[in-house]
Amino acid sequence: LMRLYGPLTSLSNVHVDVMTALVSFDRVFEVLDLRPMVAERPDAVAVPPGPVTVEFEDVRFRYPAASEVSLASLEAVARPETSPGQEVLRGVSFTARPGEMVALVGPSGAGKTTVTSLVSRLYDATEGTVRINGLDVRDATFASLRENVGVVMQDAHLFHDTIGANLTYARPGATEAEIWEALRAAQIADLVSALPEGLETVVGDRGHRLSGGEKQRLALARLLLKAPGVVVLDEATAHLDSESEAAVQRALKSALAGRTSLVIAHRLSTVREADQILVLQEGRVVERGRHEELLAGGGLYAELYRTQFSSPAASADAPRETAQR
Ligand code: ADP
Ligand code: MG
Repeated sequence: LMRLYGPLTSLSNVHVDVMTALVSFDRVFEVLDLRPMVAERPDAVAVPPGPVTVEFEDVRFRYPAASEVSLASLEAVARPETSPGQEVLRGVSFTARPGEMVALVGPSGAGKTTVTSLVSRLYDATEGTVRINGLDVRDATFASLRENVGVVMQDAHLFHDTIGANLTYARPGATEAEIWEALRAAQIADLVSALPEGLETVVGDRGHRLSGGEKQRLALARLLLKAPGVVVLDEATAHLDSESEAAVQRALKSALAGRTSLVIAHRLSTVREADQILVLQEGRVVERGRHEELLAGGGLYAELYRTQFSSPAASADAPRETAQR
């Protein structure tokens, strides 16, 4: 297995505790811009500026066979139930218009996370097209994708480094004033300023321990600092205590305001507000619409509503995180 780590260890100056984050590859790729599965085209261009539209046109996807991949295969290794080459998206089409929130719901394994990983081009569609502002993401520069697409996964990854450094990964030129503004909007400024070392506090696995809710708010502060046009979010689930839950909700509101977003929704409050809900099942969008119409339809959404969303804490897809203090 060590052979698989080759590409990572050869990046000499990269913070090495990414090695401890084997289960967090998406997040690592997002931050470091390592995309082992895809290449930037020599004639790649920047994503057109302006309010962001995300479009999926008949997207099909299968994960590459383990032999074809390097780092990304580790996750596949940990998922014996998936045979490589099996189609996990089978013709997904939708358009998220500027400022819209599109919620992805569906049973575990339906393909929600896979949809989101195609937006930041962690992988390429096997067939069909993913476009951002009309540009096929395969023709976009990595730099412009990184600038335009902000990702916050459920279990936010922080590097073993200072809070300040964790935030400025997102935007190296950020001033201290901008950092504090992002921390305030993400409802975490009071906590950071109460720490003896403030922004210089080292966090991460061997540093100051943060709760799940605190990590999420720092991840949202990082997102706010970066201010991308489109936000991809795997919504946090019920592991937060009610106080930090409310704070995370407020942080999310500021992070999503005015941005196009694609949210893997675990909360009824989120799906209720979504401009579009896509109900995924076995790699297909089986229902779409707003909360009331889907509920009235009496289909899979109505069933999920009863089982997944009716109690605020329950979610079929949500691995409960244990308290992290
Ligand atoms: P959801 O987020 O809706 O639970 P996913 O997008 O994570 O669903 O997974 C869709 C399918 O793809 C599942 O069958 C899952 O086991 C498989 N899958 C997810 N990630 C990988 C991977 N890295 N390699 C191979 N198969 C994967
Ligand atoms: Mg998922």
